[in-house]
Amino acid sequence: MEENPPSEKDKALIKHAYDFAQKKHEGQLRASGDPYFTHVFETAKNLARYGMDSQTIAAGLLHDAIEDTGTPEEEIEKEFGKEILFMVNGVTKLGKLKYRGRERHVESLRKFFIAVAQDFRVLMIKLADRLHNLQTLEYIPQEKQKRVALEALEVYAPLAYRLGIGKLKGELEDAAFPYVYPKDYAKVQEILKSKAKATEHHLETVLGDLQKELGKQNIKVVKISARMKHTYSLWKKLKRYDMDIDKIYDIVALRIIVPTVEDCYQVLGIIHSIWKPLPNRIKDYIALPKLNGYQSLHTTIFTGDGGIAEIQIRTPQMHGQAEYGIASHFSYKESIEKQKAAAKHKFVWIDQFKDLQKNTDKPEKFLDDLKMDFFTDRIFVFTPEGDVIDLPKDSSPIDFAYSIHSEIGQHASAAKVNGKMVPLSAKLKDSDIVEITTKKDAHPSSKWSSYAKTTMAKKHIKQYLDTHETSLLDKYIFKRFK
Ligand code: MN
Repeated sequence: MEENPPSEKDKALIKHAYDFAQKKHEGQLRASGDPYFTHVFETAKNLARYGMDSQTIAAGLLHDAIEDTGTPEEEIEKEFGKEILFMVNGVTKLGKLKYRGRERHVESLRKFFIAVAQDFRVLMIKLADRLHNLQTLEYIPQEKQKRVALEALEVYAPLAYRLGIGKLKGELEDAAFPYVYPKDYAKVQEILKSKAKATEHHLETVLGDLQKELGKQNIKVVKISARMKHTYSLWKKLKRYDMDIDKIYDIVALRIIVPTVEDCYQVLGIIHSIWKPLPNRIKDYIALPKLNGYQSLHTTIFTGDGGIAEIQIRTPQMHGQAEYGIASHFSYKESIEKQKAAAKHKFVWIDQFKDLQKNTDKPEKFLDDLKMDFFTDRIFVFTPEGDVIDLPKDSSPIDFAYSIHSEIGQHASAAKVNGKMVPLSAKLKDSDIVEITTKKDAHPSSKWSSYAKTTMAKKHIKQYLDTHETSLLDKYIFKRFK
């Protein structure tokens, strides 16, 4: 990724946060026995690695100051300003969420994270923080290890993927993998050991020949390197191919970075003129980017000595996007025109939630678009067990009841919000803890239809009323005509 040297002002800010955090965490130790400060410093190092700006790095150094050292919010604001306080508060809030491993709530939890984080940078700090916690997981009690690692696989890594930060996704998954699936991890390690050497050998030959040819054709190469597939994604792929390693061609792949898009296609042509490509393995993710914005040309070739190798070709910008996703926009000083073009395809997944396109004609809004308050029309409430339920704004306890289970909806008789009794018509607010009491003889009434916001609740209520009305007619009216 392109270097963007920090200004003197940036350096001073980071140094100030560094000294401040060191003093605040003085005397505190991690489970590993290391000074607590090493954790916030590693978090900041991760943020720097992902190319984040100085404000975010400073907030990373301060991210545990409120929660773990009792530093008052006012002090952070006075020393570092409103924006950094906002980020530190955001990370603190996210820290209070618990993942309970209930499959059907995972998506809601991910959305909740984004909604709570509001600012993409808060999410980045949380991910950087979590990565270091995963890397030091060996020091915490075993039963907690698995929960933290599973949470990383099911919540954090998919978030990193959606933000297009492939490198971070891979690192989170690889750190968590051995704790969640120890046996499979050992197996994959073994497979890798047996296979990687041979593949590397094939690639070295290819690399030499290719460099010669590119030189002859006067193609400027920014970088050629071999990259090893992340262990966890290799395992997932192996499972799809009956654990047959010989069916997987990208354990090690050759990655070529060239200055322009035209160069990419030219390099692909040169490769295919030297080696025979495998059919159906040529992928043009430049013309057809992946949903998270990933772009590259991929091809898989017969190396001629019995081997098969995958080659990925991309520009430096595409590389930045692939490894750092939207984080890359904080270090590339791209022109407004480029940002505008980028915004058009980079966040396609977000459209599922809210139409982002309407802002892309205002390029100055680009950074605002990165702020993730896409969920202004949604609320997130909790069950008493802490599961997150995602509902439309103005939902009632009735909607909540039906989204837990249709039977709970059908027999809801009373509701408590944050420990207090409320009518079933009450409007729920973000972060409410909702509890439903059911009774066997409680049933939907016609009034419920006006309280319900979700289609699911409306459908069930209508269904019940339709059959119920019929049976009332049967019971009291039609009977008379028999
Ligand atoms: Mn932390």
